[in-house]
Amino acid sequence: MKIAVIGGGASGMMAALAACKCGSDVTIYEKNDRVGKKLLITGNGKCNFTNLDFSSDYFRSDSCLDKQIFFDTFGVEDTIRFFEDLGLLIKNKNGYLYPLCEQASVVLDLLRTACDREGIHTEVMTEIKKLQKKDGHFIIDGKQVYDRVILACGSKAGPKGISSGTGYLLAASFGHHIITPVPALVQLRCKESFFKQLAGVRITCELTLYLDRRKTEQERGELQLTDYGISGIPVFQFSRYAAKALQEKRNVHVSVNFLPDFTDEKYSSFIHNRFERKKGETAEEFFLGITNKKIIQLFFKLTDLKPGELIEETNRKKWEKVFSLLRKFDTQVKECNPFENAQVCAGGVSMEEVGNTLESVLVSGLFFAGEMLDVDGRCGGYNLQWAWTSGYVAGKNAAKGKKGADGSKDDKD
Ligand SMILES: Cc1cc2nc3c(=O)[nH]c(=O)nc-3n(C[C@H](O)[C@H](O)[C@H](O)COP(=O)(O)OP(=O)(O)OC[C@H]3O[C@@H](n4cnc5c(N)ncnc54)[C@H](O)[C@@H]3O)c2cc1C
Repeated sequence: MKIAVIGGGASGMMAALAACKCGSDVTIYEKNDRVGKKLLITGNGKCNFTNLDFSSDYFRSDSCLDKQIFFDTFGVEDTIRFFEDLGLLIKNKNGYLYPLCEQASVVLDLLRTACDREGIHTEVMTEIKKLQKKDGHFIIDGKQVYDRVILACGSKAGPKGISSGTGYLLAASFGHHIITPVPALVQLRCKESFFKQLAGVRITCELTLYLDRRKTEQERGELQLTDYGISGIPVFQFSRYAAKALQEKRNVHVSVNFLPDFTDEKYSSFIHNRFERKKGETAEEFFLGITNKKIIQLFFKLTDLKPGELIEETNRKKWEKVFSLLRKFDTQVKECNPFENAQVCAGGVSMEEVGNTLESVLVSGLFFAGEMLDVDGRCGGYNLQWAWTSGYVAGKNAAKGKKGADGSKDDKD
């Protein structure tokens, strides 16, 4: 079976290896000057390639297709075995798996070496712009002829020059429906002007995402405040919902609880006791030690509480408001950062138009893998896991069956 893999990223290399192992003659086409450029920047250059804490619920999509089917074929254990077989020693950081050497380049070198060893041809600096199917064959850029094609072109997310999103056009040229991609695992820009004074603060808290004032998602983790808004893992985790809602012009706001370990009851008695013990102090002294000073200073401004005022002499409503802001600080989200800042996209080729083999239901012999499909994972190694899983499923199934040229498969196109 002659197979072309368009896109030499994580999913493309995995698809090529899986197809080759099944006896196919495989060529990878890559538009960049080398394969796997995005892999190099994953996990801050350390490559968080999967996670032991696994659930198929960690993968989101507009389609209700059961994603567990794919992970049953190639899951986390298979990924670990695959990389160990290539020679990788693995580091486990609370379930997040990295190469022991913490070098993404090593993961890429292992994949590249495996591709070379298997005799996979690689054409770099080759951006595929045209793909057709004629008489059961795929024709690439009007010249090369293949029995099967795997589109593994990735998404628009990531730094310019590494990502492109041109694969969507190839899929669309065959009639595939592309769910409009939006940035995901990305920072959120907020409306309020006070963020400049909070820039640099990192603090563990609980964040709740509201869409049209309805509570939608809740995350705990380290919030990072920037001069334009909110960032950090908990923000990344729900950013895809925020991005989709913003695209639909819906109201998006986030509520931050800086003291999530208190129950309402415990918080009331904490406030009462603190007042009894410290009412003779200035506002600044009274609130010192509760949370980051920059946050307290902002809340003083928002409530018009003067740092030098004695608590027992000040309007009770003002300091009570500071306490309430500490548990419920609302910020209005106006936009998310652009694709260049995002780690992945939400959206892509609709999963409704691919079967369990990741073959197109519209065009036989056309397969998809990786991020160009409408599947995005949570932050934590899940997106690479999807690349390995979908690459393996697409590669293995593309290599199966009879060649398209003899008309043995029904052409649905
Ligand atoms: C900064 C950053 C950090 C990340 N960190 C992590 C992490 O630690 N863990 C994790 O799980 N995920 C991480 N991700 C996400 C992860 O990198 C992607 O989900 C994964 O690389 C997707 O693999 P892919 O093969 O689908 O796409 P890609 O890796 O993007 O590969 C697609 C390839 O196709 C090529 N291509 C596109 N169009 C064409 C064309 N028409 N012709 C020829 N070639 C084409 C592209 O040049 C590219 O090389 C991170 C992403 C970013 C941006």
